[in-house]
This record gives sequence, structure tokens and C-alpha cells, in this order.
Amino acid sequence: MKNFLIILIALMMYASPGNSQVINKEPLSIRQTGYDIDAKLDPSTKTVTGIMRAFWVNKSTDIVPDIQLHLYMNAFKSKSTTLFRESRGSLGFKDSENGWIEIKTFTDRQGNDLIPGMKFISPDDGNLSDQTVLKVELPKSALPGDTVFINISFETKLPSKIRRTGYTDNFYFVAQWFPKFGVYEPAGMRYATKGGWNCHQFHADSEFYSNHSVYNVKITLPKEYVVGAGGLQTDESDSDEGGKYKTITYRAEDIVDFAWTAWPGYAVFTDQWEHVKITLLLPNERIEQVERQFTAVKNALEYLTKNVGPYPWPHLTIVDPPAKGSGSGGMEYTTLFTSASSYMIPQSIHMPEMVTVHEFGHAYFMGILASNEFEEPWLDEGVNSFWEERIMDHYYGENSGMINHPFLKIADKSLGRLSYVHSGGRQAISNKEFSWNYPHGTYGMMSYNKTATWLYTLMGIIGEEATNEVFREYYKIWAFRHPSGRDFVNIVNEVVTKIYGNKFGPDMNWFFDQTLYGTGICDYKVASIYNNKPEISKDKITGSDSLNNRLTVNDSLKKSVVELERAGEVMLPVDVLVHFNNGDEVLESWDGKSRFKDFVYTGNRMIEWVKIDPEFKIRMDVNYVNNSMTLHPDQVPLRSLTDKLISFMQFFINFVSL
Ligand SMILES: [Zn+2]
Repeated sequence: MKNFLIILIALMMYASPGNSQVINKEPLSIRQTGYDIDAKLDPSTKTVTGIMRAFWVNKSTDIVPDIQLHLYMNAFKSKSTTLFRESRGSLGFKDSENGWIEIKTFTDRQGNDLIPGMKFISPDDGNLSDQTVLKVELPKSALPGDTVFINISFETKLPSKIRRTGYTDNFYFVAQWFPKFGVYEPAGMRYATKGGWNCHQFHADSEFYSNHSVYNVKITLPKEYVVGAGGLQTDESDSDEGGKYKTITYRAEDIVDFAWTAWPGYAVFTDQWEHVKITLLLPNERIEQVERQFTAVKNALEYLTKNVGPYPWPHLTIVDPPAKGSGSGGMEYTTLFTSASSYMIPQSIHMPEMVTVHEFGHAYFMGILASNEFEEPWLDEGVNSFWEERIMDHYYGENSGMINHPFLKIADKSLGRLSYVHSGGRQAISNKEFSWNYPHGTYGMMSYNKTATWLYTLMGIIGEEATNEVFREYYKIWAFRHPSGRDFVNIVNEVVTKIYGNKFGPDMNWFFDQTLYGTGICDYKVASIYNNKPEISKDKITGSDSLNNRLTVNDSLKKSVVELERAGEVMLPVDVLVHFNNGDEVLESWDGKSRFKDFVYTGNRMIEWVKIDPEFKIRMDVNYVNNSMTLHPDQVPLRSLTDKLISFMQFFINFVSL
């Protein structure tokens, strides 16, 4: 324990230059990696040059012969990279617009030159033209407990045509810009059966899986630039270049990535929520949206703190990029994120708020709970979409979280569900696949929308408070670690058993096998309603006179039947509400397992209407229209019209990427 503390203190000192203040008294994570970077932006060449000292601690019991680093800016190096191939030409770069990162010098603490041991590898697809993962043989293998210190000088050429990172004119968004360690996974961590680096290439649909780290970053650039960055600004001073340049120092603790932006046109606003200082950078013409943005992020802070766990950092930076930098919008870098807005968005359309709530939410689902976006994107994007939809509908109206107009109200959760239920590819694949294996453009639907929809369905079955308790426990156990999907399922099983015992079975695996890992659809329908149904044939009645007498009595009563069907493969418990002409209502429970189910009633009353799942708990049901049947069918066309309107709006809103 003592030795461990000494090592920890030594590591913190390494990652903490003398003038840096410590933000949190206690480290939030084990800080297996750390980075000190001196960076300089040269606007004339569109390059960032950097000198970086970094470390990785071998916390496994393995002898590790190499290290692996992301060099993600190389995703923009040519049209043959994996990013370009997966984007199917949609990036539209000219050669002159490319970006890359070049390592100029690379040594360890003993001064050994590591460049001869460098080799680009492509663990995901074998693409030899992709240089986004660098493997470096160490002069001496890292023994258990060893710390590998590296010194790198690098030059990063930023791409124009911003896709997440790059520049346009004098606007810069600098992400994925420095060499960054992959995650070394010893046997037993997540799904690892043997120790090894988990270091994926840069893909069109995923880019995050990293250790929580301390970053001390100095950025030198011309004085006219306004800068936003992850972490806390600890210093700003003139640099010694004729008073034209300044150097800004940031410290970030226990975050998984460090990004920054620079543009002379930013207006800067600040606000406070409890212990969190919020900084907002946006173009002058959007100043009317300042309050909307602050309110949205404070709503998300409040809701996630209450229902999941505390936001642990004392700072947060929101960047709403100008139109020419819109390619950097809607991205998450833990204590800095980008929204996606534009001039004059009506108050009734909560699009900027939705993007802000979503991207902030990644501070939890990816930032604090640092799952592997490449391998289980649902655990990142899908879980986060579920919370985004809950937050939007909670604060902006249960039925108007996305649009609240007198003539049109749309819930955020309805948009997510419709994207899933209207997708032709909804049965294409299960969520066991890595992000780049989703066929036919189904990644977004599967990772975001199907996941959010089955999470709502889970909440419908186990209840809202139990769902919140699942996430509180997930946070408590896995914050600042690297949970897998299996870990999440285990938490659900534990919490549900603790609250409900065996009410839903020995565990909830039956649910996850069908929804998360299954490809079936859920569709319950009312097949028919009969009133005054003819009595069962008398040849089935045998035996005594008394039975025939009873039959005679029964014939004098009205007999009504509801016939239900399970049209999909997924079997979930559903409620069924039956309404009679005398005002009676009966709420039935059906375990949903059989293909057909009848509910039979006798008495002097007739069934007027039937609704399966009247409270819309089973949001995975792909067809709500056939969930109800009425003898007064005037409501059905109305629902169809609403569905069409929502579909249209969804199509419209899909232009914004997240
Ligand atoms: Zn997202």
C-alpha cells in the first residue's frame, strides 16, 4: 500500500508541472496514463507542433514488450484510410485538404531512440494504407508495475473540410491530434482472454476507448484567437515572440481525451451550476441562444446527478461552432463538447438543446463510464440517447421534448423509437458486433435508437425507480473504469433481484437475449373482438343434467371475447386494458409468450374497446396501430396521421448528426 502511494505520488508529480494546480484532492481514476503537451498552432501552415511527455503504467501481471498508440490524424492522410473507405467517398477531400501526424523524435526516459521500433499496424481490417495505430517495440519489456515514459515531438497537419477535427479559414477544431495510448487489457478485463493492447483504428463511426488521464497542456497561438479546451485554464501569458503570441495552460484530470478549439470570432459566456463553472463559446450572431444552451446543460447536470451520479469535475466547456466549423459540431470530449446550432432556431424546436443534452451526457456514458465505443457502441451512444430522451421529455414536455408547437408536438423518445421501428434493417444484426460491422447503414439505428427503445422497454417492465437504481449502481461500481455490456447486464440482474426477488425470473437475461442480443421484433396485436359470441358447441358438453342446466343459464348471458396475437418473435409481458359499454374496465396481464391469447367475459356487458399496453411501456412494439381495437374506429386514422407527421419530422431532423 505504501509503495503504491509512493508510485502514485511520483506519477502525479510527473504529470503535474510545478505551476499546475490540482483540481480534485483525490484522483478520480487510477491514472494509468498521463500527458504533458506543449503545443503551438501555426495558422500559416495549418499545423500544430507539439512536444509531449507521457507515461503508461503496466498494471497487469504480464511482461509487455511493446506499447500501442493512436495516431488518429492519419485517418485523413489519403483516400485509402479505413475512415475514407468506410465513409464511401462521402468525405469529398481533395489531396490538398488532407491531414496527418508525423512523429519527428521519439525517445524513452533513458534516451533510447524508439523510432526504429515503430510499425503501423491495422488490427481491425488489415488495411495497410491505414496508419492510425502505431506499435512501438520497447528496448526493454515493461515488467509488472513498470512505468514506461516516452518523449515525442510531433507535427500535426490539420485537415480542411472539418470532419470532427480540422480547420476552415481561421476556425480550428483540434481533436485526435496527439499520439495517445491505447488501453492495455489484461486477461479478465472486459472480454479479454489474454493480455494485450486494445487499440482500434480510427473508424467512420467510432473513436473512443482510452484510459482516464491527467493532461497538462500548453497551447501557444496568435493573441487574437479565443480558445476553448477541456480541463481548467490555469495560466495565460505572453509568449516571447514579439508580443504576437500567447500561451494558455490547461490542466485536465481523469478525462479520456483532450480537444481544443481556436477562433477569433467566439463570444464567451460563463455560468455556474452548483460546483460547476460552465463556459460557453459561440458565434456573436447566436447570442440569443445563450440562455437556451445554459438552461439545457444545467437541466442535464441536474437530472443525471440525481438519477445516475455526481458530475465530478468543477468545469465544463460548451462550444457551439460557427457554420463554417459545423463539421466539428455534436461531438464529445468529456469536459468539453460541441453543440450544433444555427441562427434563429425557433424556441419551439428544441434541436440545439437536444444536441447539448446528448453531447453533455457523454461525460457520463463514455467519459466517466469509459466503455469501448468501437466494440459496444450501444453502451455509449444508446445508453446516452436513452438519457437524452428522458431529459428532453422531462424538462421540455412529456410529449413535446423535441418540438412544442401549437400544431405539432413531438417527444424526443418518439423520434428515437420511430427510427428503430421504421427501419428496414431493424432485424439485420444484433448488438454483439463491432461498430464497423453493422451492415447497410444500420449502425446509427442499432446503436442509438434500438438501444434507447429497449432501455425504455426495460424501464416499462421494471419501473422508473428501479431503472434509476440500476444506473446509480452502474455508476457506483464502474465510474472511472471500463465497463462492458456484460457488466451492465450483471448490474441490471443484481438490482432487479434485490428489488423484486424472482418476480421476473432468476435474472433478466431472457430480456437481454431477445432485445440487446436478439434480432427479432416485438409486435402484439388485437386480432378481434366478439360480443354475443356463439356458445361453445354442445357436443363438448358431456355429463349430468346439472351441467346442461348450467349451460342453459350461461346462454342467457352475453359472452364477449378478446382475441390477441403475438405477431413478432420477441416475448415480453404486456398489460391489456378491456373497456366495456357499462363503463367497466379490466386490466389484464399477459406473459406474452403464446402465439394466441383469448380473454373471455360473460355478463350483461359488451366490450367497446381493447388496448394492449395502454401505458406504452413496451416501446419495442413495432406497430402501435394494431395494439388497439374499438367498435368506434374513428381514432385509428388520427393515429396514422400523427405517425406520418412524426416520420416526416424525423426525416427532417436526421440531417443533424450526433
Ligand atoms: Zn453521441
